[in-house]
Amino acid sequence: MQNEILGIDIGGSGIKGAIIDRTTGQLLTERLKFATPSPATPAAVAETVMELIQALDFKGKLIGCGFPAIIMDGVAKSASNIDDSWVNIDVEKLLSEKTGCTVKVLNDADAAGIAEVSFGKAKGRKGVVLLITIGTGLGSALFVDGILVPNTELGHFHLRNQKVVVEKYASNAIRMEENLSWKAWTKRFNKYLARLERMFSPNLIILGGGTSKRFEFYGDMLEAKAEVVPAQFENEAGVIGAAMYAAKFEQ
Ligand code: BGC
Repeated sequence: MQNEILGIDIGGSGIKGAIIDRTTGQLLTERLKFATPSPATPAAVAETVMELIQALDFKGKLIGCGFPAIIMDGVAKSASNIDDSWVNIDVEKLLSEKTGCTVKVLNDADAAGIAEVSFGKAKGRKGVVLLITIGTGLGSALFVDGILVPNTELGHFHLRNQKVVVEKYASNAIRMEENLSWKAWTKRFNKYLARLERMFSPNLIILGGGTSKRFEFYGDMLEAKAEVVPAQFENEAGVIGAAMYAAKFEQ
């Protein structure tokens, strides 16, 4: 059994990677980030993944990879913040062939959730736990007694009276694009939380993605019945969780 697994997090703006210790979830290297190629076609992204492997001098055989789309049996089934040409691409096959490693792929927010369940704020938590990643989009991971319900895509429904899906209304990209104050953005995000609570009655809500680092700017203004906490691993959750996911396939 290999202890070192490469965790990769493919996103709309960056492709991050670090070698992870599967038993502790610790990063064994620095976390490198390369710009996502533009256009982010499958061939171009696979090339960047190779560069990451070389830069980290990864010699292992197992890679876990988070990807910002619905992933079913390793195949991308949607593309909202990544090139449309990914739809129906077998991402696991493409990256396994390119790298010569076994590559296991899952939704990026699901990966971040797995990191929190394995080593972070959701460790040992029973009941319904929801992780929302706030970044370019809104990603989601839903757990029931620690078991993942994959591909929930909770950034893609409409709030009442909104023409756009909620990730185009309350993501961090929209906060910056519309120059919203933290107060104005939190007001929007609270509407989202209220809807999520009506749908799932979560016991715990974890906020991840880049915006989790800024919790002190908006944490006090959040309104929810559930406990709401920032993710433990912030931006590193994606690479850690992707590696832990791959580990499950090689016991
Ligand atoms: C995608 C999700 C992803 C989220 C965060 C959304 O646009 O549909 O699959 O998890 O962005 O990257």
